[in-house]
Amino acid sequence: MDPPNQKPLEIHLVTTTDSPEFTHLTRSLTQTSLVGLDAEWKPVRTHQTSFPTVSLLQIACQLGDDSVVFLLDLLSLPLSSLWESLKEMLVSPDILKLGFRFKQDLVYLSSTFCSQGCNPGFDKVEPYLDITSVYNHMQYKKNGRNVSKQNKSLSTICGEMLGISLSKELQCSDWSQRPLTEEQITYAAMDAHCLLGIFKVFQAKVAKEGELVLKTNELSIPSANLGLKELFRKHDMNDKVLSTQFCEALAIVQATTCSDVVQVIPSAGGVIKKSSCSVSNPMDAFLLKIVKKHGDRILLKESDREPKTSKKKRKKQLPINGIPREKNLENFDEWQGTAPWDPLVGGDGYPKFLCDVMVEGLAKHLRCVGIDAAVPNSKKPEPRELITQAQKEKRVLLTRDAKLLRHDYQIYKVKSLLKNEQLLEIIETFQLNISEDQLMSRCTKCNGRFIQKPLSTEEAIEAAKGFQKIPNCLFNKNLEFWQCMDCHQLYWEGTQYHNAVQKFVDICKLSD
Ligand SMILES: [Zn+2]
Repeated sequence: MDPPNQKPLEIHLVTTTDSPEFTHLTRSLTQTSLVGLDAEWKPVRTHQTSFPTVSLLQIACQLGDDSVVFLLDLLSLPLSSLWESLKEMLVSPDILKLGFRFKQDLVYLSSTFCSQGCNPGFDKVEPYLDITSVYNHMQYKKNGRNVSKQNKSLSTICGEMLGISLSKELQCSDWSQRPLTEEQITYAAMDAHCLLGIFKVFQAKVAKEGELVLKTNELSIPSANLGLKELFRKHDMNDKVLSTQFCEALAIVQATTCSDVVQVIPSAGGVIKKSSCSVSNPMDAFLLKIVKKHGDRILLKESDREPKTSKKKRKKQLPINGIPREKNLENFDEWQGTAPWDPLVGGDGYPKFLCDVMVEGLAKHLRCVGIDAAVPNSKKPEPRELITQAQKEKRVLLTRDAKLLRHDYQIYKVKSLLKNEQLLEIIETFQLNISEDQLMSRCTKCNGRFIQKPLSTEEAIEAAKGFQKIPNCLFNKNLEFWQCMDCHQLYWEGTQYHNAVQKFVDICKLSD
């Protein structure tokens, strides 16, 4: 891997809208298909009643083989003049957005823009790819199934994938002071720039493995656009016609997506021209495939937009309709808190549940899709015990017992009665990301994780001695055996396994 400092990184600090840097930025955004995003803010004490103000937004743009980083000084730029184009970039199907746990950044960014009159801020980033998923995918490819999901820091990922170390010293420096120091500028730029580097490694690996094979007809298209795919399919033609068609199609799409700025002028040949709208370069076919297979999105809910601490405080202070809060159970039917695993409140980002006895079946189902779902430590726990356990292990308590909702802790009452529906309800309510490689990655019996490497049949027989019988019919089939690290239960990829995987692919609608 080339060290990134072989070629000096091109960094532009954008402080006004009438600067050449700003022009450079807007031009670059129309030419790029790939950006890395990051934001910095002055750290605030916890229990603050509002979100911190984002003072710097870093946008690293991939432009051909080069990349350039723009540092947008949000303390001096008029936010209202930035808002439209940022919003457009965040949802443009032509630009893949890379980030590292960018949801938190987006919440703060949105609140910062809102506070300056740009309502309703931002609520969506799509297509989006989180570096954590890129990293986990690469680990999965390297080690096969059942690799425990990692939750590494960006600097660790950078170290492992790029062989460079990111200094984290400045992360908590005062980002609201001006001028920024040289170190702050370099640090901020590197944080966004390294996302492009990591993606490059990922892209190369995907290309090498031929995981996303391009069909010949797709290769002949110089560039394609998500929205344009359907238009292409309708035409059966050679390359020349196709590229003409492509321009037309692009114009049509541009005309429909930004009709207020584009003047559509049908010419003699029926070709549509566009005028003032910025044309963004569509992605190439390969990038498009990656987006299709791995692309994700960030959606902010209303509840994301309110700082948790202030909300909690308000609930405590105000009785609801004159009824003291404790007695008003109806109000807590809907989940509206910040989950305890949310990085916003210091969690590690991995959903964790505690299922009481009434939803034991749901616990097994959650484990089948790779979600950490524990059961109570004791057989007949008192409500207080349940809550203490949930609190201690940063879990949301799932129950069907409405009485439990009286207690002042993160409790969700499951509405559905059937296990499959309960699973879907939890996935939707908590916006869980379930991917196929997560299926069957956890012991359904005890919620434990599996050993890092599969066992051979011989090793499995040895391991099973005295507590589990391996059916004779499994021998000589060259199956892989996995063992739970906690309860030592053995699992293998037999028919049952494949049926179960298929079942959960169907329930979670993972097949596309
Ligand atoms: Zn187990």
